[in-house]
Amino acid sequence: MVINVAVLGSTGSIGTQTLDVIARHPDEFRVVSLAAGSNASLLGDQALRFAVAPENAVLAATSKDLAELAADRAVDVVVNGVVGFAGLSATVAALQTDKRLALANKESLIAAGPVVGRIWRAGKGEIVPVDSEHSAIYQCLRSGAQSEVRRLILTASGGPFRGRNRNDLASVTIDEALAHPTWSMGPKITIDSSTLINKGLEVIEAHELFGVPFDDIDVVVHPQSIVHSMVEFCDGAVIAQLSKPDMRLPIGLALGTPSRLREPFGAMRFDVAQTLEFEPPDRATFRGLDLAYAAGRAGGTGPAVLSAANEIAVEHFLGGQLRWTQIDEVVDAVLQQGTTTADTVDDIVGADGEARRRCVRWIQETRS
Ligand code: MG
Repeated sequence: MVINVAVLGSTGSIGTQTLDVIARHPDEFRVVSLAAGSNASLLGDQALRFAVAPENAVLAATSKDLAELAADRAVDVVVNGVVGFAGLSATVAALQTDKRLALANKESLIAAGPVVGRIWRAGKGEIVPVDSEHSAIYQCLRSGAQSEVRRLILTASGGPFRGRNRNDLASVTIDEALAHPTWSMGPKITIDSSTLINKGLEVIEAHELFGVPFDDIDVVVHPQSIVHSMVEFCDGAVIAQLSKPDMRLPIGLALGTPSRLREPFGAMRFDVAQTLEFEPPDRATFRGLDLAYAAGRAGGTGPAVLSAANEIAVEHFLGGQLRWTQIDEVVDAVLQQGTTTADTVDDIVGADGEARRRCVRWIQETRS
Protein backbone atom coordinates (compact mmCIF):
# COMPACT_ATOMS: atom_id res chain seq x y z
CA MET A 1 0.00 0.00 0.00
CA VAL A 2 1.28 3.45 -0.90
CA ILE A 3 1.96 5.74 2.05
CA ASN A 4 0.70 9.31 1.49
CA VAL A 5 3.05 12.00 2.75
CA ALA A 6 2.77 15.72 3.55
CA VAL A 7 6.19 17.36 3.33
CA LEU A 8 6.20 20.56 5.40
CA GLY A 9 9.31 22.66 4.97
CA SER A 10 9.80 21.04 1.56
CA THR A 11 12.48 23.38 0.22
CA GLY A 12 14.76 23.08 3.27
CA SER A 13 17.45 20.53 3.99
CA ILE A 14 15.13 17.89 5.49
CA GLY A 15 12.39 18.57 2.93
CA THR A 16 14.59 18.15 -0.13
CA GLN A 17 16.15 14.98 1.28
CA THR A 18 12.69 13.60 2.07
CA LEU A 19 11.65 14.20 -1.53
CA ASP A 20 14.81 12.47 -2.71
CA VAL A 21 13.92 9.37 -0.66
CA ILE A 22 10.35 9.44 -1.99
CA ALA A 23 11.52 9.88 -5.60
CA ARG A 24 13.63 6.74 -5.24
CA HIS A 25 10.70 4.75 -3.80
CA PRO A 26 7.72 5.70 -5.98
CA ASP A 27 5.89 2.43 -5.30
CA GLU A 28 5.98 2.98 -1.54
CA PHE A 29 5.40 6.70 -1.03
CA ARG A 30 3.37 9.47 -2.67
CA VAL A 31 3.58 13.21 -1.97
CA VAL A 32 0.16 14.67 -1.20
CA SER A 33 1.13 18.18 -0.13
CA LEU A 34 4.08 20.54 0.13
CA ALA A 35 4.65 23.65 2.23
CA ALA A 36 7.58 26.04 1.99
CA GLY A 37 8.60 29.35 3.50
CA SER A 38 9.94 31.50 0.68
CA ASN A 39 11.56 29.52 -2.16
CA ALA A 40 8.81 29.86 -4.77
CA SER A 41 10.68 28.50 -7.75
CA LEU A 42 11.85 25.33 -5.99
CA LEU A 43 8.36 24.75 -4.56
CA GLY A 44 6.92 25.09 -8.07
CA ASP A 45 9.43 22.56 -9.43
CA GLN A 46 8.62 20.14 -6.60
CA ALA A 47 4.86 20.42 -7.16
CA LEU A 48 5.30 19.64 -10.87
CA ARG A 49 7.73 16.80 -10.29
CA PHE A 50 5.58 15.06 -7.67
CA ALA A 51 2.25 15.93 -9.32
CA VAL A 52 0.96 17.80 -6.25
CA ALA A 53 -2.29 19.72 -6.77
CA PRO A 54 -1.62 23.50 -6.84
CA GLU A 55 -3.86 24.12 -3.82
CA ASN A 56 -1.76 21.60 -1.87
CA ALA A 57 1.56 23.33 -2.60
CA VAL A 58 1.57 26.25 -0.18
CA LEU A 59 4.11 29.07 -0.24
CA ALA A 60 4.71 31.31 2.79
CA ALA A 61 2.76 28.76 4.82
CA THR A 62 1.21 30.22 7.98
CA SER A 63 0.62 28.25 11.19
CA LYS A 64 -2.97 27.76 10.05
CA ASP A 65 -1.89 26.49 6.59
CA LEU A 66 0.53 24.03 8.18
CA ALA A 67 -2.13 22.74 10.57
CA GLU A 68 -4.60 22.25 7.71
CA LEU A 69 -2.12 20.34 5.57
CA ALA A 70 -1.12 18.17 8.55
CA ALA A 71 -4.75 17.40 9.40
CA ASP A 72 -5.73 16.44 5.81
CA ARG A 73 -7.48 13.06 5.84
CA ALA A 74 -5.64 11.96 2.69
CA VAL A 75 -2.31 12.09 4.55
CA ASP A 76 -0.76 9.11 6.40
CA VAL A 77 2.60 10.62 7.38
CA VAL A 78 3.38 14.26 8.14
CA VAL A 79 7.04 15.17 7.71
CA ASN A 80 7.57 18.25 9.85
CA GLY A 81 10.75 19.83 8.51
CA VAL A 82 9.69 23.40 9.29
CA VAL A 83 12.49 25.39 10.94
CA GLY A 84 11.94 26.62 14.48
CA PHE A 85 8.91 27.25 16.65
CA ALA A 86 6.76 27.87 13.55
CA GLY A 87 6.43 24.09 13.23
CA LEU A 88 4.33 23.73 16.39
CA SER A 89 0.90 23.93 14.73
CA ALA A 90 1.75 21.11 12.32
CA THR A 91 2.98 18.89 15.16
CA VAL A 92 -0.21 19.46 17.17
CA ALA A 93 -2.52 19.00 14.15
CA ALA A 94 -0.81 15.78 13.03
CA LEU A 95 -1.13 14.22 16.49
CA GLN A 96 -4.71 15.41 16.99
CA THR A 97 -5.68 13.65 13.76
CA ASP A 98 -3.85 10.42 14.69
CA LYS A 99 -1.17 10.69 12.00
CA ARG A 100 2.34 9.40 12.02
CA LEU A 101 4.52 12.44 12.60
CA ALA A 102 8.03 12.18 11.14
CA LEU A 103 9.49 14.85 13.36
CA ALA A 104 12.50 16.85 12.25
CA ASN A 105 11.17 20.06 13.84
CA LYS A 106 12.61 19.43 17.28
CA GLU A 107 11.67 22.92 18.52
CA SER A 108 7.96 22.07 18.62
CA LEU A 109 8.51 19.10 20.90
CA ILE A 110 11.13 20.85 23.01
CA ALA A 111 9.25 24.11 23.55
CA ALA A 112 5.84 22.57 23.98
CA GLY A 113 6.85 19.19 25.41
CA PRO A 114 4.26 18.94 28.21
CA VAL A 115 1.41 20.08 25.94
CA VAL A 116 2.41 18.07 22.87
CA GLY A 117 3.07 15.02 25.05
CA ARG A 118 -0.46 15.15 26.45
CA ILE A 119 -2.02 15.34 22.97
CA TRP A 120 0.24 12.53 21.75
CA ARG A 121 -0.62 10.18 24.61
CA ALA A 122 -4.34 10.94 24.41
CA GLY A 123 -4.64 9.86 20.77
CA LYS A 124 -3.48 7.22 18.35
CA GLY A 125 -0.90 9.41 16.64
CA GLU A 126 2.72 8.34 16.59
CA ILE A 127 5.96 10.32 16.64
CA VAL A 128 8.91 8.86 14.78
CA PRO A 129 12.01 11.00 15.20
CA VAL A 130 13.94 12.14 12.13
CA ASP A 131 16.75 13.68 14.15
CA SER A 132 19.65 11.26 13.60
CA GLU A 133 20.39 10.79 17.32
CA HIS A 134 16.80 10.10 18.24
CA SER A 135 16.30 7.83 15.27
CA ALA A 136 19.33 5.89 16.51
CA ILE A 137 17.85 5.64 20.02
CA TYR A 138 14.47 4.67 18.56
CA GLN A 139 16.24 1.80 16.78
CA CYS A 140 18.40 0.80 19.76
CA LEU A 141 15.32 0.66 22.02
CA ARG A 142 14.06 -2.24 19.95
CA SER A 143 16.70 -4.33 21.79
CA GLY A 144 15.02 -4.33 25.21
CA ALA A 145 12.05 -3.35 27.35
CA GLN A 146 11.56 0.23 28.60
CA SER A 147 12.07 -1.00 32.18
CA GLU A 148 15.48 -2.40 31.15
CA VAL A 149 16.83 0.96 29.91
CA ARG A 150 19.54 2.37 32.18
CA ARG A 151 20.54 5.44 30.16
CA LEU A 152 20.49 7.09 26.79
CA ILE A 153 23.83 8.24 25.41
CA LEU A 154 23.55 10.96 22.77
CA THR A 155 26.57 11.44 20.57
CA ALA A 156 27.72 14.90 19.45
CA SER A 157 30.22 15.59 16.67
CA GLY A 158 31.56 18.48 18.75
CA GLY A 159 31.07 20.85 15.81
CA PRO A 160 33.72 22.99 14.11
CA PHE A 161 35.11 24.39 17.38
CA ARG A 162 35.86 21.17 19.24
CA GLY A 163 39.15 21.45 21.14
CA ARG A 164 39.14 25.26 21.22
CA ASN A 165 38.64 27.29 24.40
CA ARG A 166 36.26 30.14 25.07
CA ASN A 167 38.76 33.03 24.76
CA ASP A 168 39.82 31.66 21.47
CA LEU A 169 36.24 31.60 20.24
CA ALA A 170 35.27 35.21 21.02
CA SER A 171 36.23 36.34 17.52
CA VAL A 172 35.09 33.47 15.28
CA THR A 173 33.34 34.40 12.04
CA ILE A 174 29.97 33.33 10.70
CA ASP A 175 31.63 31.23 7.99
CA GLU A 176 33.77 29.39 10.54
CA ALA A 177 30.67 28.58 12.60
CA LEU A 178 28.84 27.39 9.49
CA ALA A 179 31.63 24.96 8.52
CA HIS A 180 30.34 21.78 10.14
CA PRO A 181 32.91 18.97 9.98
CA THR A 182 30.60 16.02 9.30
CA TRP A 183 27.00 17.04 8.56
CA SER A 184 25.56 19.26 5.85
CA MET A 185 22.50 20.96 7.38
CA GLY A 186 20.56 24.23 7.36
CA PRO A 187 22.24 27.35 8.87
CA LYS A 188 20.20 27.47 12.12
CA ILE A 189 21.02 23.93 13.20
CA THR A 190 24.62 24.26 12.04
CA ILE A 191 25.16 27.24 14.36
CA ASP A 192 23.35 25.31 17.13
CA SER A 193 25.83 22.47 16.60
CA SER A 194 28.77 24.84 16.92
CA THR A 195 27.52 26.04 20.34
CA LEU A 196 26.37 22.53 21.48
CA ILE A 197 22.97 24.13 22.15
CA ASN A 198 21.71 21.72 19.50
CA LYS A 199 22.84 18.83 21.68
CA GLY A 200 21.22 20.39 24.70
CA LEU A 201 17.96 20.78 22.78
CA GLU A 202 18.31 17.14 21.74
CA VAL A 203 18.66 16.08 25.38
CA ILE A 204 15.28 17.71 26.07
CA GLU A 205 13.89 16.14 22.88
CA ALA A 206 15.07 12.69 24.05
CA HIS A 207 13.47 13.25 27.45
CA GLU A 208 10.13 14.11 25.80
CA LEU A 209 10.25 11.35 23.18
CA PHE A 210 11.40 8.47 25.33
CA GLY A 211 10.27 9.45 28.83
CA VAL A 212 13.75 9.06 30.34
CA PRO A 213 14.76 11.39 33.24
CA PHE A 214 17.46 14.00 32.59
CA ASP A 215 19.81 12.28 35.04
CA ASP A 216 19.78 9.23 32.78
CA ILE A 217 20.60 11.05 29.54
CA ASP A 218 24.30 11.58 28.81
CA VAL A 219 26.18 13.31 26.01
CA VAL A 220 29.46 12.07 24.58
CA VAL A 221 31.51 13.76 21.87
CA HIS A 222 32.20 11.47 18.94
CA PRO A 223 33.92 13.44 16.16
CA GLN A 224 33.39 10.92 13.35
CA SER A 225 29.55 11.05 13.53
CA ILE A 226 29.34 7.33 12.79
CA VAL A 227 27.72 6.19 16.04
CA HIS A 228 24.50 8.21 16.01
CA SER A 229 23.61 7.45 19.63
CA MET A 230 23.42 4.54 22.06
CA VAL A 231 21.26 2.95 24.71
CA GLU A 232 22.70 1.26 27.78
CA PHE A 233 20.56 -1.50 29.28
CA CYS A 234 20.43 -2.72 32.88
CA ASP A 235 22.73 -5.69 32.23
CA GLY A 236 25.50 -3.36 30.97
CA ALA A 237 24.93 -3.97 27.26
CA VAL A 238 25.30 -0.84 25.13
CA ILE A 239 23.49 -0.96 21.79
CA ALA A 240 24.56 1.57 19.15
CA GLN A 241 23.41 2.48 15.66
CA LEU A 242 26.19 3.09 13.13
CA SER A 243 26.10 4.55 9.63
CA LYS A 244 27.85 7.30 7.71
CA PRO A 245 26.16 10.69 8.15
CA ASP A 246 23.20 10.66 5.75
CA MET A 247 19.83 12.00 6.89
CA ARG A 248 18.03 9.92 4.27
CA LEU A 249 18.42 6.87 6.52
CA PRO A 250 16.43 8.30 9.48
CA ILE A 251 14.00 9.98 7.05
CA GLY A 252 13.34 6.67 5.29
CA LEU A 253 12.82 4.87 8.58
CA ALA A 254 10.39 7.54 9.79
CA LEU A 255 8.43 7.34 6.53
CA GLY A 256 8.16 3.57 6.44
CA THR A 257 8.52 2.33 10.03
CA PRO A 258 8.42 -0.42 11.19
CA SER A 259 9.73 -1.46 7.76
CA ARG A 260 13.18 -0.41 6.63
CA LEU A 261 13.95 0.90 3.17
CA ARG A 262 15.49 -1.68 0.83
CA GLU A 263 18.10 0.85 -0.32
CA PRO A 264 21.04 1.57 2.00
CA PHE A 265 21.95 5.17 2.83
CA GLY A 266 25.25 5.85 4.60
CA ALA A 267 26.25 2.17 4.56
CA MET A 268 29.44 1.38 6.48
CA ARG A 269 32.55 -0.23 5.02
CA PHE A 270 34.75 -2.29 7.27
CA ASP A 271 37.36 -3.25 4.69
CA VAL A 272 39.24 -0.01 5.36
CA ALA A 273 40.93 0.86 8.66
CA GLN A 274 39.08 3.43 10.75
CA THR A 275 39.00 4.73 14.29
CA LEU A 276 36.01 5.78 16.34
CA GLU A 277 36.77 8.21 19.18
CA PHE A 278 34.70 9.23 22.21
CA GLU A 279 35.41 12.03 24.70
CA PRO A 280 33.45 14.03 27.28
CA PRO A 281 32.12 17.43 26.14
CA ASP A 282 33.93 20.63 27.23
CA ARG A 283 31.11 22.09 29.30
CA ALA A 284 33.08 25.19 30.35
CA THR A 285 33.51 26.33 26.74
CA PHE A 286 30.20 25.13 25.37
CA ARG A 287 27.88 26.44 28.10
CA GLY A 288 24.75 25.92 26.06
CA LEU A 289 24.72 22.24 26.94
CA ASP A 290 24.26 22.78 30.68
CA LEU A 291 21.86 25.68 30.07
CA ALA A 292 19.66 23.21 28.22
CA TYR A 293 19.85 20.62 30.99
CA ALA A 294 18.88 23.32 33.51
CA ALA A 295 15.97 24.53 31.35
CA GLY A 296 14.80 20.95 30.84
CA ARG A 297 14.93 20.18 34.55
CA ALA A 298 13.09 23.43 35.36
CA GLY A 299 10.33 22.25 33.02
CA GLY A 300 7.25 24.39 32.33
CA THR A 301 8.16 27.17 29.93
CA GLY A 302 11.92 26.65 30.53
CA PRO A 303 12.58 24.75 27.29
CA ALA A 304 10.36 27.17 25.30
CA VAL A 305 12.30 30.16 26.63
CA LEU A 306 15.64 28.46 25.92
CA SER A 307 14.64 27.58 22.37
CA ALA A 308 13.09 30.98 21.55
CA ALA A 309 15.99 32.99 22.97
CA ASN A 310 18.39 30.79 21.06
CA GLU A 311 16.51 31.27 17.77
CA ILE A 312 16.74 35.04 18.13
CA ALA A 313 20.38 34.89 19.21
CA VAL A 314 21.32 32.73 16.22
CA GLU A 315 19.47 35.09 13.83
CA HIS A 316 21.46 38.02 15.21
CA PHE A 317 24.72 36.09 15.04
CA LEU A 318 24.03 35.23 11.39
CA GLY A 319 23.18 38.91 10.83
CA GLY A 320 26.52 39.97 12.24
CA GLN A 321 24.98 41.71 15.28
CA LEU A 322 26.17 39.27 17.95
CA ARG A 323 29.44 37.52 18.69
CA TRP A 324 29.47 33.73 18.83
CA THR A 325 30.24 33.69 22.57
CA GLN A 326 27.27 36.00 23.18
CA ILE A 327 24.80 33.39 21.92
CA ASP A 328 24.82 31.37 25.14
CA GLU A 329 25.27 34.55 27.22
CA VAL A 330 21.99 36.04 26.00
CA VAL A 331 20.20 32.70 26.30
CA ASP A 332 21.40 32.45 29.91
CA ALA A 333 20.34 36.05 30.67
CA VAL A 334 16.85 35.50 29.24
CA LEU A 335 16.42 32.21 31.14
CA GLN A 336 17.41 33.96 34.37
CA GLN A 337 14.55 36.40 33.91
CA GLY A 338 12.31 33.51 34.87
CA THR A 339 10.09 30.72 33.59
CA THR A 340 6.61 29.53 34.61
CA THR A 341 4.36 26.50 34.33
CA ALA A 342 2.96 25.54 30.91
CA ASP A 343 -0.46 23.93 30.62
CA THR A 344 -1.70 25.08 27.23
CA VAL A 345 -0.41 25.90 23.76
CA ASP A 346 -1.22 29.55 24.56
CA ASP A 347 1.10 29.44 27.60
CA ILE A 348 3.88 28.22 25.34
CA VAL A 349 3.16 30.76 22.60
CA GLY A 350 3.13 33.52 25.23
CA ALA A 351 6.42 32.40 26.76
CA ASP A 352 7.96 32.11 23.31
CA GLY A 353 6.97 35.67 22.37
CA GLU A 354 8.13 37.12 25.68
CA ALA A 355 11.50 35.33 25.44
CA ARG A 356 12.02 36.72 21.94
CA ARG A 357 11.29 40.27 23.14
CA ARG A 358 13.63 39.89 26.13
CA CYS A 359 16.33 38.56 23.86
CA VAL A 360 16.05 41.46 21.41
CA ARG A 361 16.11 43.92 24.34
CA TRP A 362 19.28 42.33 25.75
CA ILE A 363 20.97 42.52 22.37
CA GLN A 364 19.98 46.19 21.87
CA GLU A 365 21.18 47.14 25.36
CA THR A 366 24.45 45.27 24.95
CA ARG A 367 25.16 46.88 21.57
CA SER A 368 24.35 50.44 22.65
MG1 MG B 1 20.68 15.70 15.57
